[in-house]
Amino acid sequence: MSEVNKILVVGGGIGGLCAAIALRRQGIAVDLVEIKSDWTVYGVGIIQQSNVVREMARLGVLDRYLDAAYSFEDVGIYDLQGTPLARIPGQRLAGEQYPANVGISRLALHKVLSEAALELGATVRLGLSVDAFEQDAEGVQVSFTDGTQGRYELVVGADGVYSKVRGLLFGEQYTPRFTGQAVWRYNFKRDPSIDHLASFMGADGNAGLVPLSNELMYMFSTSHEPHNPWYQTEQLAGLMRERIGRIGGLIGELREQITDNAQVVYKPMEVVFVDEPWFKGRVLLIGDAAHATTPHLGQGAGMAIEDALVLSLELVGQGSMEEKLQRFMARRFERCKFISEKSILAGEREMAQDPTFDRIGLTKQMLKLTAEPI
Ligand SMILES: Cc1cc2nc3c(=O)[nH]c(=O)nc-3n(C[C@H](O)[C@H](O)[C@H](O)COP(=O)(O)OP(=O)(O)OC[C@H]3O[C@@H](n4cnc5c(N)ncnc54)[C@H](O)[C@@H]3O)c2cc1C
Repeated sequence: MSEVNKILVVGGGIGGLCAAIALRRQGIAVDLVEIKSDWTVYGVGIIQQSNVVREMARLGVLDRYLDAAYSFEDVGIYDLQGTPLARIPGQRLAGEQYPANVGISRLALHKVLSEAALELGATVRLGLSVDAFEQDAEGVQVSFTDGTQGRYELVVGADGVYSKVRGLLFGEQYTPRFTGQAVWRYNFKRDPSIDHLASFMGADGNAGLVPLSNELMYMFSTSHEPHNPWYQTEQLAGLMRERIGRIGGLIGELREQITDNAQVVYKPMEVVFVDEPWFKGRVLLIGDAAHATTPHLGQGAGMAIEDALVLSLELVGQGSMEEKLQRFMARRFERCKFISEKSILAGEREMAQDPTFDRIGLTKQMLKLTAEPI
């Protein structure tokens, strides 16, 4: 049996913070290093589905998380003129007293998770990364970018799609790929009708409205952007209005309010999947570092959060570090691969404007899979 006493988490995003919380709850000492010196995140929102609500309960942060979020039940699917097509009922996986789904601003989520990690005693250092590491049978000797050193029984790379830790483990073998699409997002005052996730789909576009609080909601829209163009900030509002130009209903009504270039969040979709165990020795990847995918199923952060929780459970189990990490992989690999591949597929079918693609059926399949215990 190998006791795990001290772990380094690289990256203070959603996955890294959830890992810090979950590991601290198991009594394991956690150092976390985050490359950004001002630990902020961009100010749009994120959809968190029923499996995430369930795992927030297991992380012990559910009440404060719900206080910072907008809870809702169903997902409404509409055509591009706003005519309802289907309603996907929410699943209350955290218990009947808790909501099925949540929309939350990324800033609010970051505040909840970072405060919890610090309260639980994780040591956080900002403006810092890993420079190199050397492993032996008992641990990992880490050199940080400020010249300091540390020794850990495990290093967890939660440093996102452009993971440095992944590069140190696998070299150039896994590099992010642009899928051909990008996402446009913008915050609005919440319309009273948006008390659920509203998804508008059709051959001429794809967009959605997500409630974030009583006052706030955000719009997202995906677009085909061949050759991954780079846009200047002063173009963004006009381009976003253009991209959603063929969408009617509430999206159409909101379009003229998209005027502040600085508030448009434009993001090309980049994906990577480590198609072999996500660890070598005592260094492991979780979250986007191992399996960044497109947002079509709204499960990227969900998978990072689940990774964090499963890791904390396996590390306190029996066996050597190798055995613990193998068990972690057995619980995570196929689930994340499904989400990763099916999200990418949904984007490809969208770009191909394939009228036969059953997006609603895929969403239901995803909900069935993610409802299963991790
Ligand atoms: C447009 C878009 C919309 C999305 N919408 C949703 C959604 O609605 N629902 C959902 O579940 N998911 C969504 N996702 C996916 C989700 O954002 C990611 O899957 C999630 O953020 C992954 O968390 P992570 O902690 O692995 O990585 P990140 O959140 O990227 O965090 C990585 C952290 O590591 C830090 N870092 C980077 N390099 C280093 C380094 N060398 N050293 C130290 N620190 C480092 C970064 O600064 C960052 O803080 C969306 C993604 C995109 C692109």
